[in-house]
Amino acid sequence: MQLDDLFDEQKQIAGVLIKQGARAVIVSHETGLAAAVTRRLYKHLKKEPSPSGLLPDSIEYFFSGQNRTHSSAFWRCYKAAQASITKHATETKPKLPMRGKILAVAYDHYQRICGGAQHALPIDRMWHLTRVVRSNDQIIEAQCRVCSAVYLTRNYETGFVCERCEENSRTTK
Ligand SMILES: [Zn+2]
Repeated sequence: MQLDDLFDEQKQIAGVLIKQGARAVIVSHETGLAAAVTRRLYKHLKKEPSPSGLLPDSIEYFFSGQNRTHSSAFWRCYKAAQASITKHATETKPKLPMRGKILAVAYDHYQRICGGAQHALPIDRMWHLTRVVRSNDQIIEAQCRVCSAVYLTRNYETGFVCERCEENSRTTK
């Protein structure tokens, strides 16, 4: 792969991520493009500067109300995208834009599952989720002990029961 092609691929993926709502700093992080480049690209595509405040850092967000179902669905999409994209990549392909591509493909898949962008959790939050799940064991996958469906849980939630089973047991009491 030529350097120019690589740069084109990076910019193409960056464009997709920006349109999906990712802020410039995240796009830079996931594509390997310089932050100044992704900020310019953001402004060009969105006609406004990228938000630059603090990135979300609370993990409780992933578990409040319906968010657990969303986070778990997104994580499934992410794992599937990662498996298929890394499988089809050759050794000579660079690692970095690939990470951005995995995020873009996963987020697109997730949005379609939840019925469109207006129902989806923001990509910045989902990016944060991938960072937490990949980097430590604060968040793990666990089966609901009633229905056996797999959800993301905090690592201390032993004997986890999902929201729906929780609700069913309340209404049948
Ligand atoms: Zn359940």
